[in-house]
Amino acid sequence: MRIAWIGLGIMGSPMAENLLKAGHPVTGYTLEQHKLDRLAAAGGTPAASVADAVRDADVVVTMLPADPDVTAVAGEVLAHAAPGTLYIDMSTVSPATAAHLATASAAKGVRFLDAPVSGGEAGALEGTLSVMAGGPADDFRAAKPLFAALGTTVVHCGSAPGSGQTVKAANQLIVAVNLQACAEAVVFLRKSGVDLDAALDVLAGGLAGSTVLARKRHNFLDRTYAPGFRIDLHHKDMGIVTAAAREAGAALPVGGVVAGLVAALRAQGDGALDHSALLRGVERLSGI
Ligand code: NAD
Repeated sequence: MRIAWIGLGIMGSPMAENLLKAGHPVTGYTLEQHKLDRLAAAGGTPAASVADAVRDADVVVTMLPADPDVTAVAGEVLAHAAPGTLYIDMSTVSPATAAHLATASAAKGVRFLDAPVSGGEAGALEGTLSVMAGGPADDFRAAKPLFAALGTTVVHCGSAPGSGQTVKAANQLIVAVNLQACAEAVVFLRKSGVDLDAALDVLAGGLAGSTVLARKRHNFLDRTYAPGFRIDLHHKDMGIVTAAAREAGAALPVGGVVAGLVAALRAQGDGALDHSALLRGVERLSGI
């Protein structure tokens, strides 16, 4: 499969590199020259534009920040991809945007899957992502060898377009609420004078243990927040899940509050920090 990969950021670069390691030829395009140089160093082919990347591809993957970026690039993809091309958007966008892309793709004879991921930069580097896919079962089967190079948990969430994005929205809700709970526990423990390292050891081994606690432990201990996953992106995702839940008639009483706390951090200028910076918000409220 000749793959065109658009968006070589924190996630896209290591994901494209894992495809190269698995023997798939990858042509890539992204906005930063140093990311194109990194792709070339890993054995990929940098392209000069989306059109240039897409023209001879069997599969096109987009891994871009947010709905407007994906919608803009999709226009270029669909203008240049040959009919029969498999187009997979792995960015996190709203289920409604995914459904719109599926319709626009079908009009051009292009097959479309939404396939967002979870597992963070570490999962992208290690090839251990969770891949949650929505779209026709045949197209999912065709994409499976590619997904297998990127992740260890690969699930077809439904044939309705946007099914993968709906599951990813739930994922982002769970991660944000869990992060906030961890941040509150860390501030409580620190203020109580307990040895935080020891406390996190024992908490990690019990029912309170989670991937969030394990992966973000060093951020909580060091109070450093290099991304990772930016607050700006989690703010976008909380907007997606609150809108989708409203549409579905599901209440998010705690999720709504955490969405507000993520928005507050962003308003205070912390949007470029890792989402573990929710700890900063709790510290501010606690006078630290
Ligand atoms: P990022 O900002 O690091 O990378 C985005 C890349 O897209 C950049 O390299 C940029 O050059 C490129 N880009 C933007 N507009 C473009 C355009 N018009 N044409 C070509 N390239 C363009 O973002 P990221 O952290 O890699 O996240 C990408 C997506 O994956 C987001 O939707 C995010 O929500 C999701 N995600 C991120 C993580 C994480 O931990 N970072 C985890 C799971 C999912």
